[in-house]
Amino acid sequence: MKAAIFDSATATPGNLLHIEEVPRPTLNPGHVVLRVIACGVCRTDLHIAERDLPPLKPRLIPGHQIVGEVVEGATPDLPLNTRVGVSWMGGTDGSCWFCTHAMENLCDHPTFTGYTVDGGYAQFALVRSDFCYPLPPDLDANHIAPLLCAGIIGFRSLRVADTHPGERVGLFGFGSSASLAITVLQSWGCEVYVVTRGESHRKAATALGALWVGDENARPPVPLDRAITFAPSGKVVLSAIASLRKGGVVAINAIHLDQMPAFDYDTLLWGERQIRSVANMTRQDARDFLAIAVQLNIRPRVTLFSLDDANKALLAVKNETEEGSAVIVP
Ligand SMILES: [Zn+2]
Ligand SMILES: [Zn+2]
Repeated sequence: MKAAIFDSATATPGNLLHIEEVPRPTLNPGHVVLRVIACGVCRTDLHIAERDLPPLKPRLIPGHQIVGEVVEGATPDLPLNTRVGVSWMGGTDGSCWFCTHAMENLCDHPTFTGYTVDGGYAQFALVRSDFCYPLPPDLDANHIAPLLCAGIIGFRSLRVADTHPGERVGLFGFGSSASLAITVLQSWGCEVYVVTRGESHRKAATALGALWVGDENARPPVPLDRAITFAPSGKVVLSAIASLRKGGVVAINAIHLDQMPAFDYDTLLWGERQIRSVANMTRQDARDFLAIAVQLNIRPRVTLFSLDDANKALLAVKNETEEGSAVIVP
């Protein structure tokens, strides 16, 4: 099969992935083999390929927003040709303290799709059967792919920030994840304030109904109840804290931050403001978000790339040149 490979020994900037013919994955117990129909590109893939996250495998197929159909390992629950989605959380041990306390997102021995195991930048992928989400047949694969991490973890961020209906919510950064979260926030009657540096992202936020949009130096005109940060930047987290009312929460939707600058506790955090990170997702987050996405008919804007253009897709995410989400169609 054809696949995009990240080789930590030979990857160079601009040529992070090599397109190669590799053996098709062979079936293991408890798994299914999927024919990949589409695979969304996430900023985490870029962090992996640029080694912001440490390489865990010398050669890796990235990609953790997979829409595929079952071609091997079918079960009564997942019959042949069932269309399923697979996300970042590709497995857990099911036995650690976190797994047994409804916090499987924090599992001590997690499997991450497209990081600890091969992912979906390929024609086929081997995935755990119990971490597949059957998908409604009427939604097209290219538009589902970005929902599978950007959408699910964006949704989890709203939960981690303890967002309530009608609240004032700030979105700091407006890429794939934020552009999906805004639709959920509107369905909850929230007022959405967007701070983002890219001109095209500001236009997209306005088009999607943000009440107020500003550039990275602007401050929302009202104190926010909740803020979600999407940029991999500690400075952005500080801007978000500075925009909160007392008792407000910042949720950081980023697996990697450049660094957290020192900040003044008395003026920024005092008053029971909170900063929380958002780590991974549970299967329940996935099921809940996918149900809401169907109900709200969320159809992300997508830009399609062939597998041969996987490097271009990563660059588009890095440079924020596309509105909406990059999707690889192998
Ligand atoms: Zn992701
Ligand atoms: Zn566990």
